[in-house]
Amino acid sequence: MSVHFKKLALIGIGLIGSSIALAAKRQGLVDVISIATRRQETLDEARALELGDIYSLDAAEAVRGADLVILCAPVGAYGALAAAIGPHLEPGAILSDVGSVKEHVVRVVGPHVPQGVSFIPGHPIAGTEHSGPSAGFAELFAGRWCVLTPAPGVAQSETDKLVSFWQAMGSKVECMDAAHHDMVLAITSHIPHLVAYNIVGTVADLEATTQSEVIKFSASGFRDFTRIAASDPVMWRDVFLTNKDAVLEMLGRFSEDLSVLQRAVRNGDGAALEAMFTRTRAIRRSIIDAGQETAAPDFGRPHEAPPAPKPGFVREHGGGDDA
Ligand code: NAP
Repeated sequence: MSVHFKKLALIGIGLIGSSIALAAKRQGLVDVISIATRRQETLDEARALELGDIYSLDAAEAVRGADLVILCAPVGAYGALAAAIGPHLEPGAILSDVGSVKEHVVRVVGPHVPQGVSFIPGHPIAGTEHSGPSAGFAELFAGRWCVLTPAPGVAQSETDKLVSFWQAMGSKVECMDAAHHDMVLAITSHIPHLVAYNIVGTVADLEATTQSEVIKFSASGFRDFTRIAASDPVMWRDVFLTNKDAVLEMLGRFSEDLSVLQRAVRNGDGAALEAMFTRTRAIRRSIIDAGQETAAPDFGRPHEAPPAPKPGFVREHGGGDDA
């Protein structure tokens, strides 16, 4: 199904909003893009990058006449934004979002959606650790999943339009209910981020000498946690404030499994450790087979050619730097 919108309003224009603007424009999915954000500097940056056609600091102004409105701000701002734009949404419009949690969005945005507007929350499972309008790129969603959680009573034809919009930007799309989304994402995304924030936080508290060695030898695993732990603090604060129940449920299971590992290490139970690591390796293989990750060594990081060896030096290892 080919899809086209007259006016797309993006409320918030950071990594995700700017990537939607670039992808929608490149694919010819919209005639006009209207952008609203909170701060003048961000609006000026979006204008300089030519991400849209109309720019405003007033979200209510930005959604006037839009047939597709997507909230792209941190979820903590959604309640106030929904209250501001609700009365100005056009009958027949689709209201969606990109927030990393969904039940909270239904709770705070739902009551402000007027009759005649189709409310279809969404979550593109794609991102980087970078933020702001200049962080976006049109290919961000290519090959990545986007989950939609249509509100009860929304016409299938409206959901189909939004599915086609995301597919045209390269996404694979799945519809599910908001609570299920939050439980799945708690374990696949939110807990891994919490673990990364915790490990990097532990290092930050170490004494200076140990800390400098951790940084020096970081390629042995720590470095990959630092990439995740560099993610936007405001966005992730809001994720943990708004997906509390699912995160606590999964954190409980995680802690129980960690205790089992702790006991195996304490008891020198090699068989238990090996059995666990064999199971986890199989999960990694299935993620690669599903096309969600590259099988390239060192997470596909480009490696510069190693410097030419000095005369008389015998190189024993290749250029890779992981343990
Ligand atoms: P970001 O790069 O930090 O951008 C956030 C944008 O929202 C900025 O333009 C910011 O503008 C604006 N904003 C903040 N508060 C606002 C308010 N009260 N009213 C209007 N605009 C406001 O964040 P992002 O990574 O694009 O994330 C945006 C949303 O996408 C979040 O809900 C997040 O959960 C979701 N998401 C993120 C990722 C990811 O990996 N980053 C992945 C999937 C989904 P100002 O500078 O003007 O404040």
